[in-house]
Amino acid sequence: MASYKFHNSSISGQNYVGFKLSAKGTKTYKTYNPELQKQNDYIFYEATNEEINEAVKLANDAFTIFKTFSSTKKSRFLNKIAEEILNIGNLLIETYCSETGLSKERAIKERTRTIFQLHSFSKLLNEGNWIEASIHRSNTQRISLPKIDLRRMNIPIGPVLIFGASNFPLAYSTAGGDTASALAAGCPVIIKSHPMHSGTGELISSAVIKAAKETGMPNGVFSNLNSSGIEVGQILAKHSLIKAIGFTGSIEGGRSLFDIASKRKVPIPVFAEMGSVNPVIVLPSILASKTEEISKIYASSITTDAGQFCTKPGLIFGIDSKHFDLFIEKLVQEVQKTSPKCMINPRIRNAYNIKRKEIICGENVLIKTTYNSEIENKNYAQQTIAIVNGDDFIKNNLLQQEVFGPFSLIVKCKNIEELKNAISNLNGQLTGTILGSEKELSEHYHLLSILTDKVGRIIINDIPTGVEVCSSMVHGGPYPSSTNPKFSAVGTTSIKRWIRPISFQNWPDDLLPIELKDENPLGIFRLVNDKLTNLPIKKNNFNNKQDF
Ligand code: NAP
Repeated sequence: MASYKFHNSSISGQNYVGFKLSAKGTKTYKTYNPELQKQNDYIFYEATNEEINEAVKLANDAFTIFKTFSSTKKSRFLNKIAEEILNIGNLLIETYCSETGLSKERAIKERTRTIFQLHSFSKLLNEGNWIEASIHRSNTQRISLPKIDLRRMNIPIGPVLIFGASNFPLAYSTAGGDTASALAAGCPVIIKSHPMHSGTGELISSAVIKAAKETGMPNGVFSNLNSSGIEVGQILAKHSLIKAIGFTGSIEGGRSLFDIASKRKVPIPVFAEMGSVNPVIVLPSILASKTEEISKIYASSITTDAGQFCTKPGLIFGIDSKHFDLFIEKLVQEVQKTSPKCMINPRIRNAYNIKRKEIICGENVLIKTTYNSEIENKNYAQQTIAIVNGDDFIKNNLLQQEVFGPFSLIVKCKNIEELKNAISNLNGQLTGTILGSEKELSEHYHLLSILTDKVGRIIINDIPTGVEVCSSMVHGGPYPSSTNPKFSAVGTTSIKRWIRPISFQNWPDDLLPIELKDENPLGIFRLVNDKLTNLPIKKNNFNNKQDF
C-alpha cells in the first residue's frame, strides 16, 4: 500500500478507526485536482461495514470516559489539535489546494479560522458557563408543600456523526466548527470524510489523533471514515449508537439524512446547514449616491472563490428605475472585470451548470454577463448575472433555488408592493440584507420585518459573505436553510446542538457534578434560585431566601 510521507505527516489513504489506521476494504477512489484536471496520486480506501461498526463501538465506549473529563482536560485537547494542525505545515496547504483548486491564501485563511474555532471552544470550556447551571435549593418550610432540591445543567448527548463540507475542507470539515463544538461538549466524533478532499481530511485526522494520544483521550474519541459515495454516511446515520448528526451541504443531502434519522427506531436530531440564496433588497435612494461602491462590493461577494459560499448573495431585489438600471449595468461590468475562478470539483461545476441553466432558460429571464469561451474546457465557472421581472419571479418557484457558484439573479419589481410580495414568497434563508438610506429604511420598516421572519441573520448596508465566529453569530435559519432554526452552526453557541439538559433531584452534595456543588469550586456563573451568581452557596442554609 503506497504511503506518501512529507515532513512528519503522511497520507496513507486509510481510515482512522479510533487511533488505528485501517484499510480492510477493496473499494478505492482518488481525489481530483480541478485546476490541473487530473486525479491526485493518493488512493483512498472506503470504510467497510466492519470498520464502521468498530468505529461506532469505540466511540460509544470512549463516551463513558470522555464525558467525565474536566473542562481543563478537554480544553487542553482542543488546543493541542490546533497546535498539531499547524505542525503539518505546508503539506496541509498543498494538499488542500490540490484537492479544491482554491488558492493558497484562501487555504491559509481557512486554517487560521479553524485554529481560532478550536481556541474559542477551549476558552468556552475554561469559562464553563455553557453548562447553564441552575439551582433551586430545597425549602422544607414552604407553606403549601416542602420544596425539593433541584439542580439542572447541560450534559453531552453521545457519539456524534459529522459530514465534511465540500466547500470548506478545514473550517466546516474534519476538525472544523462541528467537531470542535462536539468535542468541547464531551461527545466523541465520527467523521464521514468528504470524498473531494479526503487527503486534507486524513492529514487533519492525524493531527486530532496525535493530540488525543498526547492529552490522554480515550481511543475512539475520534474516527475518520472514507467513502466515495453516500452509503457509508447512510449506514452511520442509521446506527443505533450514533446520537446526533451534523451536516453542511445540499438540501437533497441534508433532507435525506434528516428523513433517515426521523425514521430510525430511536430518532435522533440532525443539524443540517443547507441551501440559501441570501436575498438582498436594494432600496431606491441609496443608489443615488452609492451605486459604484455597492456594485463593486457585491461583484466581489458574488464571485470570490467562484461564489462557492453558502452566504453568497444569490438574489438581488430592486424597484425598476433609472438608478436601478445603472446599478445593474455597473454590477455586470464589475463582474466582467473579475477573472473566472476554478470550481472545487467537476461535480460541483456540473451542478452549477445545470442549476444555472434551469434559471437562465426560465421564461423571460435575461442573461447580462458575457460568455467566456476560454474557460469552456476548464473546470472554471461562467460568472453570471441574470435578470427577471418581479411578477415572473413570483410565478416561478424554481427561480429561488440555490445556484452554488458565481451566479446572482436580479429581480426587478414594478413597485414596493410587488417587492413585498416577492419577499413574502421566499423560502427560509441563512441571511437577508437590506441596502438603504437611513430615511428609507425607517419608511420601509415593514420590509425588514417580513425579511426578519425568513432568515437567521439580518443585515443592513453590508454584505452577507464572511461569517464571524463568535457567540453573537447565527449561522442557520428557517427551513430549508437548516433543519432546526433554533441552533447556529457557527460560533460558540453551536455547542448547544450536542448537549441536553438534565435535572438532579435531591442529590447529596458529594455525589453532584462539580458544576452543581454548593461550594462552586469552578467559580462558574449559575442561576441560584433564579439569580445569576458565581458565589458559593453557604452550607446548612435551608432557608430559600438565603444569601449566597
Ligand atoms: P452534498 O451533495 O450535499 O454532500 C455533502 C456530504 O453529504 C457528502 O459527503 C455526501 O456524500 C453526503 N451525502 C449527500 N447526500 C447524501 C445522502 N442522501 N445520504 C447520505 N449522505 C449524503 O454536497 P456537496 O457534495 O458538498 O456539494 C454538492 C452541492 O451541495 C453543491 O453543488 C451545492 O449546491 C450544495 N452545497 C451547499 C452548501 C451550503 O452551505 N449551502 C455547501 C456545500 C455544497 P458523497 O459526497 O460521498 O456523495
